[in-house]
Amino acid sequence: MIKAVLLDMDNTLIATQDLFEEAHDRLTAFIHSRALTPPAESLATVRRFEVELFTSFGYGTGMLPQAFENALLHYAPQSPAADIAAVRGMASDVYTRPARVIPGVPQALEKLAGHFDLYILTAGEPEAQQRRIDALPFKNIFRGTFPVPEKTPETYSVLLKKLGLKPHEVVMIGDSLKSDIIPSVAAGLSAIHIPHANWIGREMAGLKMPETTLATVFNHMSGAASHLIAGAGRKNSIAPLPSRKPAHPAQAA
Ligand SMILES: [Mg+2]
Repeated sequence: MIKAVLLDMDNTLIATQDLFEEAHDRLTAFIHSRALTPPAESLATVRRFEVELFTSFGYGTGMLPQAFENALLHYAPQSPAADIAAVRGMASDVYTRPARVIPGVPQALEKLAGHFDLYILTAGEPEAQQRRIDALPFKNIFRGTFPVPEKTPETYSVLLKKLGLKPHEVVMIGDSLKSDIIPSVAAGLSAIHIPHANWIGREMAGLKMPETTLATVFNHMSGAASHLIAGAGRKNSIAPLPSRKPAHPAQAA
């Protein structure tokens, strides 16, 4: 029987992806103003840098400013320090500006909280993630919030031990196959995938839903909440669903 729900934050509760897209728009317009590069071209370039730099920076907040700087210098190698600082600032803004709450999420959380203990499990630089948690209008609904550097099967096992919960008592909800679904299922939890266009496709690229009844897909948090609540009285975890294709598969650009 499910006792607790772990929730991813970025692009599950709040639309962090919008902030990345706005920053990309500002960067590509800036590069266009300096080097006349078509925005689509510089966008592809900065995304390439982001993927490359992820290897060394991970989810840390240093990656995006470096990628923006690299992209500017790629097209305008003689850029003055003020221009470099400007594009780095556009990237840093992503980590400090508040993100919009995804429609329907507050109501779904309200319903879930009537049946389960709710926790946030979010990957990223702890300080930046804590700032986002503090800005959540519904932050008091959670019994605990856990910013972690990354989510591996061990992350889930360690957290469950800390909370005194067994894997079959917990469901993880999130938008990332890589961080939320594959490792949680590997640790024995149930998982609900709610696809969302997440950054540069890295969270989805080359990954597939695990073929197990432990993992299901919903297009919205409200559907996931109703499903969990409907199964709350049953003995064995959540009711298995036939696997469904999301209406908008998250093949982030
Ligand atoms: Mg996410």
